Amino acid sequence: MLPVFSDRRVDWPSHPYSTRDSLHEHDMWVAEGLTHRYPTKVLAELLSTCPQYCGHCTRMDLVGNSTPVIPKLKFDLKPVDRYDAMMAYLRATPAVRDVVVSGGDVANMPWKNLEAFLDRLLEIDNIRDIRLATKALMGLPQHWLAEDVVDGVGRVAAKARERGVSLAIHTHVNSAQSVTPAVAAAARAMLDAGVRDVRNQGVLMRGINDSVTQLLDLCFALQDEAWITPYYFYMCDMIPFAEHWRLSLAEAQRLQHDIMGYLPGFATPRILCDVPFVGKRWVHQVDTYDKELGMSFWRKNYRTSIEAADTEALSREFVYYDPIYTLPESGQAWWREHGELDAANAAAEVRATASREASIAQLV
Ligand code: SF4
Repeated sequence: MLPVFSDRRVDWPSHPYSTRDSLHEHDMWVAEGLTHRYPTKVLAELLSTCPQYCGHCTRMDLVGNSTPVIPKLKFDLKPVDRYDAMMAYLRATPAVRDVVVSGGDVANMPWKNLEAFLDRLLEIDNIRDIRLATKALMGLPQHWLAEDVVDGVGRVAAKARERGVSLAIHTHVNSAQSVTPAVAAAARAMLDAGVRDVRNQGVLMRGINDSVTQLLDLCFALQDEAWITPYYFYMCDMIPFAEHWRLSLAEAQRLQHDIMGYLPGFATPRILCDVPFVGKRWVHQVDTYDKELGMSFWRKNYRTSIEAADTEALSREFVYYDPIYTLPESGQAWWREHGELDAANAAAEVRATASREASIAQLV
């Protein structure tokens, strides 16, 4: 959480196609702060602050205040108007059944305001899953142990249960050392208050949890000591200054392969690549993969909210890029030459080269 220059790579500190909103969540806002990226689920960004600020934050464009050199995305509407607009969209869109209530971190919101929002969500018939996203369960477990918060979660959980809605907490723990007794107590308090599950969505990061031992240690600490289900590990997104943490797809696939069989199936985390304009994909779902240039190509089976009229959305290939320093020398040389191309051109060029090479191979 403390940016240290000596951590950063000096050759490729950022991937040439990294962007501050690499998942284009802002482009998919259907109301301010409400991202509709999947057919049946939405992300509600209630606030733009966190009790901690992660260097690998996928929402780095929104989360935190502007700095002297980086102007950040800002909410224009007042919170009350923003939440009204979200509710109006959810009431008018019965296909949505699942809301991730996030930020920032919901722990930074006064509990009474969060409870009021959750109560309104519970009044919408089509909402069947509510997930509260809070890294503070790990970073500031005292918040989730405070009496007013525990009592409030109990009230919301009871209401959710009565209405057949599944209320869960999703947290974000990346290393076994972070699973302290206080974290375990906070998770247990939430389960005792009636939430259906506390799940972990970690981020895969080089040097933190990129070995089988580190990953399994973390998962066993979560599962055995804190009763937090190891659920997902995301490959670190393609945001600026994250190259020193990011793994290649091949490395992530190998880790997924190597952790299988040790944990119960329901607690064996899936390692995911969040592919821009596609969404979460299990790392073995890749369509084609050019390991020399570090480009993986993915397809999808649904349209996002901005593709209703896009006839090619379901046949197009979407690209994700490996860190350049992990590539063989020939791939790195290619990037030194082509690093300034825009992403679409680069992908098109790779496909054209591949098809030229295939034609030549056929002729030979
Ligand atoms: S806790 Fe989550 S939203 Fe907050 S800075 Fe970290 S990654 Fe971003």
